[in-house]
Amino acid sequence: MSIETPAKLQPTETFTPTSFDNSSFDKAVMSTYGRYAIALERGAGCRVWDTQGREYLDFVAGIATCTLGHAHPAMVEAVTRQIQKLHHVSNLYYIPEQGELARWLIKHSCADRVFFCNSGAEANEAAIKLTRKYAHTVLKIERPIILTAHSSFHGRTLATITATAQSKYQKHFDPLVPGFSYVPYNDFAAVEAAIGELDEGDYGVAGILIEPLQGEGGVRPGDVSYFRKLRQICNETGVLLIFDEVQVGMGRSGKLWGYEYLGVEPDIFTSAKGLGGGIPIGAMLAKKFCDVFQAGEHASTFGGNPFACGVALAVCETIEKENILANVQARGEQLRTGLKLIAAKYPQHISEIRGWGLINGMELNASTDLTSSDIVNAAIKEGLLLVPAGPKVIRFLPPLIVTEAEINQALDSLGRAFEQVTV
Ligand SMILES: *Cc1c(COP(=O)(O)O)cnc(C)c1O
Repeated sequence: MSIETPAKLQPTETFTPTSFDNSSFDKAVMSTYGRYAIALERGAGCRVWDTQGREYLDFVAGIATCTLGHAHPAMVEAVTRQIQKLHHVSNLYYIPEQGELARWLIKHSCADRVFFCNSGAEANEAAIKLTRKYAHTVLKIERPIILTAHSSFHGRTLATITATAQSKYQKHFDPLVPGFSYVPYNDFAAVEAAIGELDEGDYGVAGILIEPLQGEGGVRPGDVSYFRKLRQICNETGVLLIFDEVQVGMGRSGKLWGYEYLGVEPDIFTSAKGLGGGIPIGAMLAKKFCDVFQAGEHASTFGGNPFACGVALAVCETIEKENILANVQARGEQLRTGLKLIAAKYPQHISEIRGWGLINGMELNASTDLTSSDIVNAAIKEGLLLVPAGPKVIRFLPPLIVTEAEINQALDSLGRAFEQVTV
């Protein structure tokens, strides 16, 4: 398996440490994020450097976005070409790059039509709107309800925090958006009961919005039998099956789409994070039968512009040409094997390793005092960037071009981080 990674940047040759003043940053920027005390300045492949010239192995990849790592030649070429040619016009006109990207996505998925936007939350908003219109015009439901799962994550707009069945994202932002109801994940009986109970009067279940693998909610893979049954009940009732592929899609699972893992096709699905390799872009994809939007009913100023689509197309073609999915599968196996060895060494702290391809989680025992933040902070000291998925799960999301040697290096660093926190 040969993956071409960009030549490693040599920060010592070109680099002068700069001072970074976080207190002036914190005075100017709203404190919506809890930040680690490092400022990242440059990157190449799976490595990034901070303003002090310290090197880190990046196993966050912009939270599952930088699929080709940093400064990949295919992205540098596409960004440069597109900004020189045409970067933004408007959907008042035909945009050739948008059509080309849509055709690539359709050729490589079960979808027939694509709508482009700029983020995951917007893609899910589009899916919610399409589902509601389908409910009103086809299913003849006056008050459509969309079922979503506990511990899900669907974004930060008002409708998508409502869809996200976790109170920590909703607190103080009520009144929430009506038309959502929650069920436990991987529990088919609960879905069956909800569809039965909620179909009353003007109300009716119109869609089930669900992640094939829950990312933010703790890296929890969907059960094959559960998803098969969801497909079956949707076929029987006409309820739309909508997959949120924002985190797990675009190759991260080792297949292009998470649903390929489950052997079930959605009617609608959404993509964003990895789609542009780190350039902001989102997409809502649907089968022809439920594409009920008409001109003027949904829009986005930036959605599908030549810049985002030209770069995303380069990312898609690179994933295909360089056979990156095979790398995702092999490196994922290698990573899980290594993580299980670390787990075997610390059975009192680590309870489970799980995931698909290069989206993996390490769950800490409920009984240990250790939190995912403790491990992430210790790993940063060892030069490894990781991200929590909740208080007890550590998430591993390297670029999809990660090499065998880089996985080994990350495992060594993580091993040292555990030594640090367990002494
Ligand atoms: C990140 C994420 C979103 C939200 O995407 P944004 O681009 O931050 O709006 C939605 N769904 C899932 C599964 C995600 O992981």
